[in-house]
Amino acid sequence: MALTFSIQRTSTPTSEQDIAVINEDPGFGTHFTDHMAVVDWHHEKGWADARVEPVNDYALTPAGAVFHYAQEVFEGLKAYRHADGSIWLFRPESNGRRFADSSRRMALPELPVEDFVNSVRELVRTDAAWVPSGHEQSLYLRPFSVASEAYLGVRPARQVRYAVIASPVGVYFTGGIVPVDIWVESHYSRVANGGTGSAKCGGNYAASLLPQELAYAKGCSQVMFVDNAEHRWLEELGGMNVCLVTADGKLVTPALNGNILPGITRDSLLALAPELGLEPVERPVDIAEVYAGIADGTIAEMFACGTAAVITPIGTLVNEEGRHEVPVPADGGKTIALRNRLLDIQYGRIEDTRGWMQ
Ligand code: PMP
Repeated sequence: MALTFSIQRTSTPTSEQDIAVINEDPGFGTHFTDHMAVVDWHHEKGWADARVEPVNDYALTPAGAVFHYAQEVFEGLKAYRHADGSIWLFRPESNGRRFADSSRRMALPELPVEDFVNSVRELVRTDAAWVPSGHEQSLYLRPFSVASEAYLGVRPARQVRYAVIASPVGVYFTGGIVPVDIWVESHYSRVANGGTGSAKCGGNYAASLLPQELAYAKGCSQVMFVDNAEHRWLEELGGMNVCLVTADGKLVTPALNGNILPGITRDSLLALAPELGLEPVERPVDIAEVYAGIADGTIAEMFACGTAAVITPIGTLVNEEGRHEVPVPADGGKTIALRNRLLDIQYGRIEDTRGWMQ
């Protein structure tokens, strides 16, 4: 049976004026709403005590396994305000399924998808005043589960806490959409075969931070990871999937091989591709093929995609040997056409024929 969420509203809500000031320039992940959704899990009692409560400091025992063995998973999705004021989620069941998959891989209990979606809906309802209405603004939702039992032995925790927090976020590119330089990392790996690459667990992100810093030091804004065994097959960026547009009309992205996060943006763009005259192709992509394709013109565009920034055009691939300039069409090409199509659906400007919005 589905969980029922009790709602305990804060007695000191943020004023409409203060929310309006925050939403003038919310940035990304720096401001948080007044409430959070919480569900506790106990190995004998299962999921219980589903609630929306005032956001708080969330005291956990320092003996909790999350602090020692990183038994943790998370999700990221957005609520969008349409022109008529209504508030919509984009494919929340897909996030719920991925959350359950990630939880299984990290030996955490699986929250039923229905309860995941309800937790998000209840929080968005409670904090509806926080969903911004500005250009490309949204309410970013961060569901997560952590091992909360006080126990230092190495085994799956018998107590776990699930929660959702929310943060109003602004347009990702304040200076317009500028193609980014990407560092192609050939020493450090983010994940390994048989590891946790397809799970959205904190450890994968911790492992990407040092190479990300090295990428910054090389003047790049993101790092692209290749496979850990041959340092040759394209995987993804630290927080986005990667796609190519070929001159002969294909949208190519590395196949899901267990080392790549199954991005919901990636999946949505593959579904939208035929509408924009592109054939979707998922297959292994060799970095040598990419460099050659950039040089001989068979690769027409390249971009990264994910919930936070939707689509980011890639302008240059940089590695130890030098720079490879990726073509960037003056009119934005298929990259910007795909971006606009997805945003038009998310913001309700065109009809959602796939039942993605709710
Ligand atoms: N890869 C990684 C490593 C990510 O963190 C994300 C963001 N969740 C993505 C890809 C894109 O996934 P999505 O489109 O579902 O946001």
